Amino acid sequence: MGFTVAIVGRPNVGKSTFFNRLLEERKAIVDDVSGVTRDRQYGISEWNGKLFNVIDTGGFVNNSDDIFEIEICKQVKIAIDEADAIIFMTDAATGITDLDDAMANLLRRTTKPVFVTVNKVDNNARYLDATEFYILGFENVHFISSISGSGSGELLDAITNLIKEEEEKSDEVLPKIAIIGQPNVGKSSLLNALTGQERTIVSNIAGTTRDTIHTHYNLFQKEFVLIDTAGIRKKNKEKDDLEFYSVIRAIKAMDEADTCMLLLDAEKGITAQDISIFSLAARKGKGVVILVNKWDLIEGKETNTARDYESELKKRIAPFNDIPIIFISAKEKTRIFKGIELALEVCENKKQRIATSKLNDVMLKAVESHHAPVVRGHSIKIKYVMQLPTHVPSFAFFTNFPEDVKTPYKNYLENQLRSHFNFKGVPIRIFFRKK
Ligand code: GDP
Ligand code: GDP
Repeated sequence: MGFTVAIVGRPNVGKSTFFNRLLEERKAIVDDVSGVTRDRQYGISEWNGKLFNVIDTGGFVNNSDDIFEIEICKQVKIAIDEADAIIFMTDAATGITDLDDAMANLLRRTTKPVFVTVNKVDNNARYLDATEFYILGFENVHFISSISGSGSGELLDAITNLIKEEEEKSDEVLPKIAIIGQPNVGKSSLLNALTGQERTIVSNIAGTTRDTIHTHYNLFQKEFVLIDTAGIRKKNKEKDDLEFYSVIRAIKAMDEADTCMLLLDAEKGITAQDISIFSLAARKGKGVVILVNKWDLIEGKETNTARDYESELKKRIAPFNDIPIIFISAKEKTRIFKGIELALEVCENKKQRIATSKLNDVMLKAVESHHAPVVRGHSIKIKYVMQLPTHVPSFAFFTNFPEDVKTPYKNYLENQLRSHFNFKGVPIRIFFRKK
C-alpha cells in the first residue's frame, strides 16, 4: 500500500469528526508540534478491502485572521505535496466562506484529485443549500454527514477507486529496507557511510513516487533495495513543518519497505513520536530493526551501558519488543554494515514458512503445558495450528470457542511461537478459528 489521503478545510467544518469515523477503532497517531495548529492526526483506514493512510492536516487554535491565511496556505501546500488525493472539507451549515474560496484557489492549481466534501448535510433542506458548492468549480463534489455517516460510503468508493491493486514487479523479490527516523538522527550520514561518498555507485530505480528514493544495492554479496527520504526533505524549506514532513515521509518509506531501520539519537533516546512510528510499522506488518545512532557521543561507556540502554528501550516499546537493537555511529562508521545484515535477517525471518507438522508438534505441546483458562464453564481446546499464506506471518489456531480466547493467552501463544521459531523483528498475527 502507499496511498495517502489528506483532509484539509477551515476550522470547525468537521475534519476531525470525519477522520475519527474513518479510523473507527483504529488508533491515530497524534502529532502536536506547533502551538498554533491543533494536533495533526495520522491513521490507517480500510475501505473495500483497500488500505490507505489518512492525514487530518489539522486545525487552528488561534483565531486571528493573519494566522489563518498563513496556516491554511501551509496546510493546503502540505496536502498538495504529500497526498495522492485531497478531501477539501466544507460546511453546509455556513455555506461558502472567504476562507473556502481562498483554499479553493490554491487547490485548483493541483493536478491531484480533489474531492470537495460538503459536510453537515444532515437532512434534505441542507442538501438543497449545499448544492451551491458546485460553484467552486471542482469535478468531484460529495455531500456527507460525518455525524450520521450518510454519504461517506460514496465518497470512499470514489477515493478507493483511485487505488490500484498492488502489482508484482520484478524487483519485488529483492528485500526492501527503509531508513526512517526523525530529522537529524543521522539518516543521510548513514546512507553516505554505507555507500562511500557517492550514493550513485548504484543505480537509482525510478521511484514509484517522488517522495522516496529507491536505490538498488549490491553489498557483501547481498542485493537489496534501500528506500530513503533523507535527501528529499532538505529541499523543503518549511522549517516549522520539518517534523510533520518527516512523519509523512517515514510512513511512505515504510509502506514501500519490507523492513524498516528505525534510527534513534543515542543522546535523545526514544521519543513519543518514535514510538508512534514504531507501532505504526508494527500495525502495517513491517519488520523493524532499531539503530541507536551517535553512540560515539555517549561518554563513559562501560560493559553494561549498551545492555542497560537496550533493556530500557525494550520496556518502552513493549509488548512488541522482540526486535534487533544495535548501537552504531554513522560518523565513525561503526557497526553500520551490521545494521544492514540485521535488516536482511529480519526480511528472511518475515518470509519464512513453517511446516504445518513442525508447527503442530511444537505449539500443541505448548498448549498442553499451559491450557487456555476455562470460560463460562467450558474448557477451550486448541486442536490444530497452521500458518496462513500471507505477507505478514499469520497463524490460525483452530479451537472450539474462538471468541473466548483472551489476550493474555494469545500473548502466551505468540511468545511460544517467538521462542521456538525465529521471528525477531517481525510482527506476527494470531487468529482463532472455529473447528
Ligand atoms: P474540525 O475543526 O474541522 O476538525 O471540526 P470538528 O470535527 O472538530 O467539528 C466541528 C463541530 O462540527 C463539532 O461540534 C462537530 O460535532 C460538528 N460536526 C461535525 N460533523 C458534523 C455533521 O455531519 N453534522 C453536524 N450537524 N455537525 C457536525
Ligand atoms: P538526517 O536529518 O537524519 O539525515 O541527519 P544527518 O545525517 O543530516 O545528521 C544530522 C547531524 O548529526 C549532522 O550534523 C551529522 O554530522 C550528525 N551525525 C550523524 N550521525 C552521527 C554519529 O554517528 N555521531 C555523531 N557524533 N554525529 C552524527
